Amino acid sequence: MVVVMAPEATDEQIAHVTDRVEGVGGQAFVSRGVVRTIIGLVGDIESFHGLNLRSMAGVADVHRISDPFKLVSRQHHAERSTVWVGPAGHQVPIGPDTFTFIAGPCAVETAQQTLEAAEMAKAAGATLLRGGAFKPRTSPYAFQGLGVRGLEILSDVRATTGLPIVTEVVDARDVAVVAEHADMLQIGTRNAANFGLLQAVGDAGKPVLLKRGMNATIEEWLMAAEYVAQRGNLDVVLCERGIRTFEPSTRNTLDISAVPVVQGISHLPIIVDPSHAGGRRDLVVPLSRAAIAVGADGVIVDIHPDPETALCDGPQAILGADLRALAQAVRQLPPILGRVDSSAHARTSVTAVSVGV
Ligand code: PEP
Ligand code: MN
Repeated sequence: MVVVMAPEATDEQIAHVTDRVEGVGGQAFVSRGVVRTIIGLVGDIESFHGLNLRSMAGVADVHRISDPFKLVSRQHHAERSTVWVGPAGHQVPIGPDTFTFIAGPCAVETAQQTLEAAEMAKAAGATLLRGGAFKPRTSPYAFQGLGVRGLEILSDVRATTGLPIVTEVVDARDVAVVAEHADMLQIGTRNAANFGLLQAVGDAGKPVLLKRGMNATIEEWLMAAEYVAQRGNLDVVLCERGIRTFEPSTRNTLDISAVPVVQGISHLPIIVDPSHAGGRRDLVVPLSRAAIAVGADGVIVDIHPDPETALCDGPQAILGADLRALAQAVRQLPPILGRVDSSAHARTSVTAVSVGV
């Protein structure tokens, strides 16, 4: 941390700052320039926060040097992490060496629809199944998801297809039941700053998929991840799903540059959701290609066997030729960039069902 003193700061004010810093066990290194004096602080940053340095007489500014997110930062954990998702003996990696393709319906509607979507996902090469049982809808009149019945359908479909499940939890009261069925707990954009929920999923013992808040800066998003990590759960995968901008042509604006920016400062894996970013079926394949090219660790995509009847997000669900084009991109492009399909690296045991193509 660096304290910048005002040009008119007196020697007494400078000494007062260094005394206070030393009083909490820190060290203060004073550098006197012609116009200004700066003081470099070394020690426990949290104890410096308690000093309220910015409010002291003669202090013009205070700058942090280290990231405010500690556990998820690359500053103390240079190597990028891989998060393993799925039951013991059959885990799928999400991380820097692989490219992980996650697909499934926006919402679980019926057992038949979920199974059909899962089979479409598997045939296209997906190694994880997505599907919402608890849906965070903007309108209270819209389909809210099947709740626990939806989780049961997902469990059955996992048993049939072998695909581990990613599903959203919207309320801290449901974390236990969702964690009982899911292999990965999703926190949606609307709950990305629900700190109690973040702590609750941090305690649940399952990997977490943390979507970016639609109006969150990258630092705010990483601070949200820090809430999960602080509970002892470092198995967090970040998901860029578009942010709110002034542009109405797309549902959100995919912040593609967030991928390399995050990879530079955090060791957590990061994937892209082209479906919720664009909100349009015709954009899913191009945005997925962009995600692969920019170095994302995977994509999560909405698919549906019959988008016209979908109870949620039908306009962005793909099938048929679009899904085939996506499958081809996911198979062919990541190897050019030195990545392998996540199914090639899945931790399988002899008895486990094999997944992927
Ligand atoms: C979803 O993935 O189903 C979803 C609701 O996404 P988001 O939170 O990004 O809107
Ligand atoms: Mn959706």
